[in-house]
Amino acid sequence: MNPAATKVSFVGAGPGDAELITVKGARLLREADVVVYAGSLVDLELVKTYAGDARIYDSAAMNLEETTSVLAQSALDGLKVVRLHTGDPSIYGAIQEQMEELDRLGIEYEVVPGVTSAFAAAATLKQELTLPEVSQTVIITRLAGRTPVPDREKLAEIARLGATLVIYLSVSMIEKVVEELLSGAYQPETPVAVVAKASWPDEQVVAGQLSDIAAKVRDAGITKQALIVVGDVLNARAEGMRAKSLLYDKGFTHGCRKGIIT
Ligand code: SAH
Repeated sequence: MNPAATKVSFVGAGPGDAELITVKGARLLREADVVVYAGSLVDLELVKTYAGDARIYDSAAMNLEETTSVLAQSALDGLKVVRLHTGDPSIYGAIQEQMEELDRLGIEYEVVPGVTSAFAAAATLKQELTLPEVSQTVIITRLAGRTPVPDREKLAEIARLGATLVIYLSVSMIEKVVEELLSGAYQPETPVAVVAKASWPDEQVVAGQLSDIAAKVRDAGITKQALIVVGDVLNARAEGMRAKSLLYDKGFTHGCRKGIIT
């Protein structure tokens, strides 16, 4: 092993907007000699903004052996190498198998988190995903596609909770999403928002209810790079909040503040 070997940095690029990468991720890109980026979802402009001088590989057309070989060889040559993933690498990022390959080869790596698209979508919607007395749970999930989903995690099962859902990778199967959710705790009136390309200049929002969202999404022509946000929290804007959080309630005492007794 070359004693000057570097470690590979897996970096979350954030949801799209080049300013939504972390300071650390941006620095690693600026310093990088080699970048392997997920070209199907990460904007090449973002890569060029920070890593204009690096050798850039688009992983969209590469297989695991090929990406591993670029990452490993670069690290062994002492080059600074970034593997750039969309959003946060830990969510549907397929990084585990890449890390396993690097482990096998004895190459070190680090992971730098990013803003996952769920949070970009919430920001676009200007919506808190956890509201008192409505839902205090957010579930990130997906429909089975070519990647299977374990039986106990079928949407219809998850839907029994009635929590806030953020559904990735499924907008092209929106009818099936609706069908499964209706067989759980959700109603035809349950609010839904579909956010496509959150934080990109051409982001798109389609809002509706389980009863009409599929048709609206089809009409809008959204088939990919979109999230489906489901749950009663989405009613807060139109209907007002059921209860406010205690955190800023003037009568509530906590570690940092004494409540006022009236
Ligand atoms: N690691 C990524 C997710 C990769 S899976 C993350 O943390 O966001 C790819 C899926 O993510 C897409 O099918 C879509 O559902 C979602 N996605 C990624 N970027 C998005 C964006 N800017 N707006 C809406 N959905 C997005």
